[in-house]
Amino acid sequence: MRHIAVLGSTGSIGVNTLDVIRKHPDRFKLVALTANTQVELLAAQCEEFAPAIAVIADAQGAARLSALLLEKNIRTQVLYGPEALVSAVTESGCDTVMAAIVGAAGLVPTLAAAKAGKRVLLANKEALVMSGNLFMQAMKSGGGELLPIDSEHNAIFQCLPTKFAQDPHSGLGVEELWLTASGGPFRNTPLDQLAAITPEQACAHPNWVMGRKISVDSATMMNKGLELIEAFWLFGLPLEKIKVLIHPQSVVHSMVRYVDGSVMAQLGQPDMRTPIAYGLAWPERIEAGVAPLNLAQLAALSFSEPDLKRFPCLALAFAAAQSGGVAPTVLNAANEIAVGAFLDDGLPYLQIPVIVEKTLSAIQNGPVDSLELILDVDARARRVAKDFIGTLQQ
Ligand code: NAD
Ligand code: MG
Repeated sequence: MRHIAVLGSTGSIGVNTLDVIRKHPDRFKLVALTANTQVELLAAQCEEFAPAIAVIADAQGAARLSALLLEKNIRTQVLYGPEALVSAVTESGCDTVMAAIVGAAGLVPTLAAAKAGKRVLLANKEALVMSGNLFMQAMKSGGGELLPIDSEHNAIFQCLPTKFAQDPHSGLGVEELWLTASGGPFRNTPLDQLAAITPEQACAHPNWVMGRKISVDSATMMNKGLELIEAFWLFGLPLEKIKVLIHPQSVVHSMVRYVDGSVMAQLGQPDMRTPIAYGLAWPERIEAGVAPLNLAQLAALSFSEPDLKRFPCLALAFAAAQSGGVAPTVLNAANEIAVGAFLDDGLPYLQIPVIVEKTLSAIQNGPVDSLELILDVDARARRVAKDFIGTLQQ
């Protein structure tokens, strides 16, 4: 029986994770659930799964959650605040952590899971983008297993030889990784219409239903840029061996090209329950509730190169990945601020890459050697990005 903590249980990945777990009560026991603001949904999840610990953002939310649980006679311990997210990992008795908080807020508890030797199911790509080497070292010293949940990385993981995960430098004939990208809702939108894009349009992804932040990242293709950096750390291949391909149907989730000419692909419905189930049960496979893929019903599968003029965020991420050091941390922080301002504060869509680029040029690059430094750079980049947005909105 696996004992699972879900960080971000009320989000899109969190809810899908609970859906897979619900189908396999004989295999999985939820021991910790966490949410930011959605108290009612978290209470309902606690009622169904009776975890040992539930975490919510603040004292007010905790009081409300405690009251709701008392009404139903549920004995889950209620904690709150950022430190409590770490307790959900270290004090719940879990052996497996689904890291599904969105953005930098997930870094510290995900790192705690890595250090504590848990099986880490990594959806929270921002955590790895921010902390790169430090995170991979924490996984190594903790001795746990890292399984990518991001569909592309999960696909690549499935297409690589098992031994590769243990020793990426063994090579094993792996030549290139091909990350597929749908191209988002604006793949074909005339460029002169992009200026007027609204949050609702940006969040209407053609193939995947996801949280708002990752939906905007998919529209700008910053998501693929973050995924390139994620793949670099996860699989240890040089950047020039990691390629991005536009594939609008989102059926081929990613591919690995081998030295002998073989290309291995993982195909499936665009449904996150597939990679989630794979991570939960690895190395076994379990029913995930996903509809079977019917290839005969698909008109075509097409592939093309991304247009970096249309998707400047992808070019910025490539450049930050090449620079290394704290550049990916700055890229991620500035992007989170710009996307937040676009979603909630009227920042024009086309300003997202502008804010990211300005922030990257304003902060000097340097090596990453500690969590303190990463958190400091993250905070600085957020301030700088907010200042740039402020000057625009005056
Ligand atoms: P979401 O917005 O639907 O959910 C985010 C979760 O994080 C919620 O449970 C929320 O309560 C929690 N959260 C948000 N801010 C928090 C904070 N400050 N402190 C504590 N908890 C906080 O997002 P999502 O779409 O589920 O994405 C989650 C992560 O998974 C992201 O990093 C995303 O890039 C990654 N991911 C998502 C998908 C997808 O299909 N949704 C696919 C691949 C990767
Ligand atoms: Mg992805």
